[in-house]
Amino acid sequence: IYILAIESSCDDTSAAVLCGNRTLSNIVATQKIHEEYGGVVPELASRAHQQNIVPVVHQALAKANIDKKQLSAIAFTRGPGLMGSLLVGTSFAKSLSLGLGIPLIEVNHMQAHILSHFIEEENYKMPSFPFLAMTISGGHTQIVLVKDYFDMEILGESLDDAVGEAYDKSAKILGLPYPGGPLVDKYAQLGNPKAFPFPKPKVDGLNFSFSGLKTSILYFIQRETKNNPNFIAENLNDICASIQYTIINILMDKMKKAVKQTGITQIAIGGGVSANSGIRQALKKAEEKWGWTSYIPKFEYCTDNAAMIGIVGYLKYKEMDFVDQSVTAKARYVIQ
Ligand code: ATP
Ligand code: FE
Repeated sequence: IYILAIESSCDDTSAAVLCGNRTLSNIVATQKIHEEYGGVVPELASRAHQQNIVPVVHQALAKANIDKKQLSAIAFTRGPGLMGSLLVGTSFAKSLSLGLGIPLIEVNHMQAHILSHFIEEENYKMPSFPFLAMTISGGHTQIVLVKDYFDMEILGESLDDAVGEAYDKSAKILGLPYPGGPLVDKYAQLGNPKAFPFPKPKVDGLNFSFSGLKTSILYFIQRETKNNPNFIAENLNDICASIQYTIINILMDKMKKAVKQTGITQIAIGGGVSANSGIRQALKKAEEKWGWTSYIPKFEYCTDNAAMIGIVGYLKYKEMDFVDQSVTAKARYVIQ
């Protein structure tokens, strides 16, 4: 079974070809244009997808060494995401499925982040059901109880900013370029995490809040730079380490709570922030200390990519879970 998968929910245009649960190709065109604006500009994203989609699909087929006539089905991201961006992938997938006369499969992007753990890779052990998934990305922060491939329950999520957003906005306050998350992580590894204490938000249950942290960082920096204009430059590593320490504590506190609540100690993380060194260290410590088992897919599958859409496509293909040409993109699309 060959599945062509298309992802265009935000600012990455991606196409992948899977053979069963294995990736044959996974091409991602990242849009550089947004860097100069310090964030994703929806209108520009949509236009860039239109330019990228045909060459990206061609590359994915070429790299997989598959002719489009060999494809069994086409899977695409239906949502959640930016409407203008989703429309490009959705229309493309619909036309191609009509043209080739093969089934069309709609995929929820957040479900795909979670099911990316089921792409077969050498030396990668997949989680078994039930497990807890923590999706930490630029647009989401979710703790999900995964009972089966298509039986998921959101136990908690961010009430405001996503964790990746918290990283990027903190980075922006420090004058770092977008997206600043990886840079904060880089400097954090050189600094003292306890140099500057930032308050942790008080949010009930398993929900998160990150907007207060951003504000307290902003006020802190404004105050300190008034006294010392070189404050950021002189303390960059310590500031980043302190921000990282606070964010990772927030995430781990909620994970501990979720483990306690469910009795499940298998933790699978996904989303771009999974690349963060702090969360990886914290999970490793939790394995040694509390006997958790953590699952972290390779980086290529953490950030937005079509291979994760393809694995959902494959799983749905086996269940003959297809959609017809009346399907439309869904900017808000909650997993269930
Ligand atoms: P969503 O899946 O919710 O729609 P997204 O797909 O746009 O969001 P991803 O591509 O999964 O988000 O992740 C991008 C985010 O990950 C950015 O906010 C980026 O700063 C953050 N990020 C990447 N690497 C790191 C790192 N090492 N430390 C902290 N944050 C990081
Ligand atoms: Fe994503």
